[in-house]
Amino acid sequence: MSKPSAIPAVRGFRDILPEECRHWHGLESAARELFALYGFGEIRLPILERTELFARAVGETTDIVEKEMFSFRDRDKEETAVTLRPEATASVVRAYLETGLAHRERHARLFYTGPMFRRERPQRGRYRQFYQIGAEVLGRDDPLADAELLVWLVRYFDRVGARGARLELNSLGDEACRPAYRERLRQFGLAHLDALCADCHRRLERNPLRLLDCKVPGCRAVIERAPVMRDSLCAPCAAHFDEVRALLDQERVPYALNLRLVRGLDYYCRTAFEIIGEGEGLGAQNAIGGGGRYDGLVAMLGGPDVPGVGFALGLDRLAMAAPASVEPETGPAALILPLEPRAVAPALRLATRLRDEGLAVGVEPAGRSLKALLGVANRRRARLAVILGPEELAAGRATVRDLASSADRRQALDLEAPGPELARWVRTEVGT
Ligand code: AMP
Repeated sequence: MSKPSAIPAVRGFRDILPEECRHWHGLESAARELFALYGFGEIRLPILERTELFARAVGETTDIVEKEMFSFRDRDKEETAVTLRPEATASVVRAYLETGLAHRERHARLFYTGPMFRRERPQRGRYRQFYQIGAEVLGRDDPLADAELLVWLVRYFDRVGARGARLELNSLGDEACRPAYRERLRQFGLAHLDALCADCHRRLERNPLRLLDCKVPGCRAVIERAPVMRDSLCAPCAAHFDEVRALLDQERVPYALNLRLVRGLDYYCRTAFEIIGEGEGLGAQNAIGGGGRYDGLVAMLGGPDVPGVGFALGLDRLAMAAPASVEPETGPAALILPLEPRAVAPALRLATRLRDEGLAVGVEPAGRSLKALLGVANRRRARLAVILGPEELAAGRATVRDLASSADRRQALDLEAPGPELARWVRTEVGT
């Protein structure tokens, strides 16, 4: 039979190895700690949702719904159309309604972490499975709720050392003032049709606001001169935005106004923001997070008229923008080296005992020379090597070698029933 070929991962999907995971854990636990201080509770959401949830919440005319969703028909009787979630706000709102949270505590503060799926063109910093940390505040329309989230974000970037992260802010208005602005923008686009790309022609018909989002250089030059939402905000939206900004100024939260900032999802209104990162390799994919207010979304998903505001951070990109802590991975406190098959069982007993006592211990398979095994112990940066050879077995005493000084010490080990004193002894030896 010919040798089977290796099966690669699906394009745009990747593995996160232990060293990177340690970095990610640091970022996640910093977020958890800070969420606790701001009164957020965790919600774990399904990865699969009904397609109609995203079609309705994210918007039929958005890039996500038009071309980026992983959707398929589940093989149940109704052949339900389902989708791997491209984002989690829609799911949070669905859960808020479905689990009754909306009635029990109208004001809810929830955070989530986990993978999202979008069928975008893969490149560095852009994957088809990527990870987000996000937060949602439901039931609050006051500017304080927006400001608190933004303060959380800048404090978080400080904590994880993402020093170059910049906050960009805009207001997208609401249903009272946005339609008139949308029409002004459409008229502007129609007047400059020749200079706009084919995608923009389509956007002009279906969702003119998305013009502002186009990355094509020719379009960007036109859009520079396009009318901005701020000049069309109604009085309540303008007051809301002013109050958010005043609260940010009070807390000395640095931000830049970006009057052309729109978000890729339809549900946003009023406050909208993005966090632009600086970091090795971020390159063109430099948005590490974004969010904003979505006052109409809960009602759009069949619930009461409850406002909301939230954000999502991309963990893959955050990890590029926030340097990993420099602590090198430490090796095990001890590596147990059985020199012959008879020593395997006592070696496992010893390892289990030490691990029960909270020590990181490795155990190697038998069948190699002492020299080879000590080489392994050094490579794995073990502090101590516990040698179990024929002599040791006969005497019921292991040889423990300090790998830094290469000093051998005989340690009395009851190999039948090693006691907790052994763990104490190892601890003193390795100084933990
Ligand atoms: P969005 O709501 O689309 O702005 O996404 C929020 C954040 O998720 C972005 O700022 C990115 O950091 C991250 N993100 C979105 N799409 C991807 C992707 N395809 N690959 C990696 N990260 C992504």
